Amino acid sequence: MQVLSVTPEIFPLIKTGGLADVTGALPDALAGLGVATRSLVPGYPVVMNQLKKKKTVHQYPALQGGKAAVHAAEVAGLDLLVLDAPHLFDRPGGPYGDATGADWQDNWRRFAAFSKVAADIAAGAIAGYKPDIVHAHDWQSAMALAYMRYGEAANVPSVMTVHNLAFQGQFAASIFPGLGLPQQAMALDGIEYYGGVGFLKAGLQAAWALTTVSPTYAQEIRSPAFGMGLDGLINLRAADLHGIVNGIDVAIWNPETDKHLAATYGARSLKARKANKRAIEERMMLDRDDGPIYCVVSRLTWQKGMDILTAILDPVVATGARLAILGAGDAGLEGALLAGAARHRGRVGVVIGYDEGLSHLLQGGADAILIPSRFEPCGLTQLYGLRYGCVPIVARTGGLADTVIDANEAAVGAGVATGFQFAPENAGAFHHAILRANALYTDPAAWSSLQRQGMKADLSWDRSAQKYAALYSKLLSKRDA
Ligand code: ADP
Repeated sequence: MQVLSVTPEIFPLIKTGGLADVTGALPDALAGLGVATRSLVPGYPVVMNQLKKKKTVHQYPALQGGKAAVHAAEVAGLDLLVLDAPHLFDRPGGPYGDATGADWQDNWRRFAAFSKVAADIAAGAIAGYKPDIVHAHDWQSAMALAYMRYGEAANVPSVMTVHNLAFQGQFAASIFPGLGLPQQAMALDGIEYYGGVGFLKAGLQAAWALTTVSPTYAQEIRSPAFGMGLDGLINLRAADLHGIVNGIDVAIWNPETDKHLAATYGARSLKARKANKRAIEERMMLDRDDGPIYCVVSRLTWQKGMDILTAILDPVVATGARLAILGAGDAGLEGALLAGAARHRGRVGVVIGYDEGLSHLLQGGADAILIPSRFEPCGLTQLYGLRYGCVPIVARTGGLADTVIDANEAAVGAGVATGFQFAPENAGAFHHAILRANALYTDPAAWSSLQRQGMKADLSWDRSAQKYAALYSKLLSKRDA
């Protein structure tokens, strides 16, 4: 079975969030199940620079205002198709915006072009390659399914995966003529959305099947509170909606071999984590003591509940715990956290920025990881935490609810607890969860049993990949019916 995965990010080439981890890891997990994945990605400078050998497999004299080509290449074991369109992707800054974080004004054009190329490939644009399934990820790829639906690949089964419903790709109706779609597409059951054009909406409408990255989030997005305006459509399509929880790349996230750690360890050598804790203290200028260090590795945003964290910073420090925070995002939250670090020298360490290595060290040395998200489609950092014995303290929502077992008395007694959950997502409940963690931390045997239980969990992609493969097969039967 040949699957074309259409994605704006793929680890290790380009990553701003969990989406990249998923699209980077899934191909390998599916390979063992007889599913061959080719991944179409935009040719951002960081991607183009990593292509050593490439073969041009398709060319466009004009694609949304410039020449473009599709190159086939293999990088890090990934079978890539790269859309080389310098007028759209060869620019400094991030994948979606400039260095200041402001979105590129022509994002609609960039990702419409990208999506159109995916639809062309689905229709056979590349000699000798015809995907059986097209799997689109998030709004940047969603229009592929609309181009397929209104073009030549309407009979190719498709999957639309939502990694975060908050990012929808909504644009003014005035872009419609630039998309090159037939007039009939600008309709309520097409790409039209509240008077404008909705890229994700178009994909949700056109896809043969919809998935999101955890069962709880799949339920939550059917409600107005989490549906972000799309709950009506999602409910209409509920029979085609699946929640498949993400796995993690257990080769990259392995505390027994992780090169980013000061000391590697396993479930039977948890004491070795201490060297990592000492390294965190040095790196983040924290006092050295034996109390807990709670870490954060996160985008600093409202979604991630980082304002709730700043609200309880002082009381948490007053309990004697230390905080080690790595993140980047909203300027206001960055400022509030830095101010917290200045107020509590030696007790709160903050690194603003994106640092893959430090994110591993924090998981390998901190005692717990704090994830007070307001909503969380799946969440990966709690999964890394489980694997690294860095106990997750999480809001009970989305994928966090699905993957962490709360250390209530019954679960601790039965030896199945893996972390702490709290609800609702407010400062009071979060603070209470931290007090519960502090209390358990004073009992080293109980704490290490919590760590070991988390480390035992099967977080690999195997089970989830089986679910995707089963879904693909089901769609192929539907096509052939
Ligand atoms: P989201 O995709 O919503 O940001 P996830 O938990 O699904 O959240 O994935 C976040 C990914 O990004 C994880 O791999 C996490 O380790 C990583 N990450 C987030 N912030 C940083 C940072 N400042 N430095 C390094 N890695 C980060």
